[in-house]
Amino acid sequence: MDFKDLLGEVKKQIREVTVHEVQDKYNPENGFTLLDVREKDEWDQGHLTNAIFLPRGFLEVKAEKTLPDKNQPIVVYCAGGVRSALAAKSLQELGYKDVVSMIGGFNEWKNTGLPFIVPEKVGKDQMARYSRHLRIPEVGEKGQLKLLKSKVLLVGAGGLGSPAGVYLAASGVGTLGLVDHDVVDESNLQRQILHWTSSIGMPKVDSARRTLFEVNPDVKVRSHHVRLDAGNILDIMQDYDVIVSGSDNFTTAYLVNDAAVLLKKPVVYGSIFRFDGQASTFIPYQGPCFRCLYATATPPELAPSCDEAGVLGVLPGIIGLIQATEAIKLLLNIGTTLSGRLLVFDALEMSFRQFKLRRDPECATCGKNAHIDLESVPEFVCAVQSAGAKG
Ligand SMILES: [Zn+2]
Repeated sequence: MDFKDLLGEVKKQIREVTVHEVQDKYNPENGFTLLDVREKDEWDQGHLTNAIFLPRGFLEVKAEKTLPDKNQPIVVYCAGGVRSALAAKSLQELGYKDVVSMIGGFNEWKNTGLPFIVPEKVGKDQMARYSRHLRIPEVGEKGQLKLLKSKVLLVGAGGLGSPAGVYLAASGVGTLGLVDHDVVDESNLQRQILHWTSSIGMPKVDSARRTLFEVNPDVKVRSHHVRLDAGNILDIMQDYDVIVSGSDNFTTAYLVNDAAVLLKKPVVYGSIFRFDGQASTFIPYQGPCFRCLYATATPPELAPSCDEAGVLGVLPGIIGLIQATEAIKLLLNIGTTLSGRLLVFDALEMSFRQFKLRRDPECATCGKNAHIDLESVPEFVCAVQSAGAKG
């Protein structure tokens, strides 16, 4: 008996249906399970909607786990109808009561013009770049695809925006927006690693774009070379999934907070001063916002532009990367964020402390009687103002 005879024998013992019968009747909407028994590369190039993938080679081994109900009606298909015929026979022998094989398989289905889906994949050329993400179950291909489709806005391409931007780009966050109206100054280079000596005098957004393209050309960089104000902030912020706030002034911090609450966007907050840094995550209406924390008071130590005493060059690297980590967790919906906690870092002691934050029911932005008016965010003036000092 040769293979042709064998296949003939098998086909006598099973039932076959046409692609049109599957389309019209033998489909998941009518309670049928579609079982694709092709190989992974065939599956990846396209398969029927809602099909289950179980390659022929694993059929007997995995059938009972993948298809626990032996009374469940099953339509098996492969590329051309041969492997599925053999698979249908095997399933019958394993005790499955109602199994049919689709004549002509996926090729016939496709050639007939019936609908199918092509699963989204991290491209072959991207597999190596993101391989260390793909190996983490919590990220994996699904997570990486999510990152590649995500949009993060960096408010400020300075001390905090630099490390956050470089690592978010390297991680494959697909779109990074940068808001900064400044140009690169020599005094920035001690810590703002997005900018190089050759960038002095360039707009920060342009210098940052050049660096981020070198880090990862997959990433789209959108430049917003403006000063955020009540008139432009909603338009700029509305398209992003997460806002990373690394602004060096208090007015912007309040403006970003209030706009984010209006748009219900999470904000990852960071600030730095000399050897000390802080970070938190504000998720509108789920946790406290920046105004719950600092209602009206403007402690000058929280506004680095108010002080020219400086910042340790490495400090923004630590706080900016905590912000980038929070952004990635928010995008992937994994872990526990800093929502409701203020993380305080002391570089000299090398200590991290945490303070619990609570929503303020009287908060002017997210409290029960809140009234958000972006136009009314006041200009915060520093007690000890210094010309041109920048975070
Ligand atoms: Zn609030």
